[in-house]
Amino acid sequence: MSHWLLPWTASCLCGRVKMRVTEAPAVATACHCKACQKLSSGPYSLTLLLPAAGFEVIEGATEIGGLHSPDVRHHYCPHCKSWVYTTATALAGFVNFRATMLEDASWVMPFVDMQIADKLPGVVSGASRSYPGFPPPEDYGSLMEAFAKEGARPG
Ligand SMILES: [Zn+2]
Ligand SMILES: [Zn+2]
Repeated sequence: MSHWLLPWTASCLCGRVKMRVTEAPAVATACHCKACQKLSSGPYSLTLLLPAAGFEVIEGATEIGGLHSPDVRHHYCPHCKSWVYTTATALAGFVNFRATMLEDASWVMPFVDMQIADKLPGVVSGASRSYPGFPPPEDYGSLMEAFAKEGARPG
C-alpha cells in the first residue's frame, strides 16, 4: 500500500511558511491533552507523525512558541502564529506535523485518540483506537503497522 499521492504541500494560514512532505506518515493521531487544547485553541490537536527525512520547510522560517522547552519545540509562523509542527527529543527521527496545514487535508482522519482522560464532552474524532494517556512505547510498532494497512489516505 503506497497509495499516498506524495509529495504534499502545506502552509500556515498566511502562506509565509511553506512545507513539503515526501514520505508517508507513520500514524495519524488526535491528542486531547490540556496542552494541545490550549496550543490548538480547539478540543484536540490533529497530528501526522512524519519521518523527519520526509519533511522540510521550503519557504519562510518558523519561530518557537508554546512553553519554549528545550525538549519540546513548538514551531510557529512568525507572522500569522499558526502552530505548524513540533519536534521533541522523545520523537527522535520524527516530526509531529499539524495536519490542518496541508494544502489538502480533506482525507486526514485520526487513527488513534490519545489522552482521552482529558477529552472534552461531546468530542468525537473518529479514531478507531484510543488510550487514556500516551500509547505505551511497546504499542507504537503495531499501531504503525496497522496504520500502514488501514489508515486513511488521500484519493
Ligand atoms: Zn503564517
Ligand atoms: Zn497533546
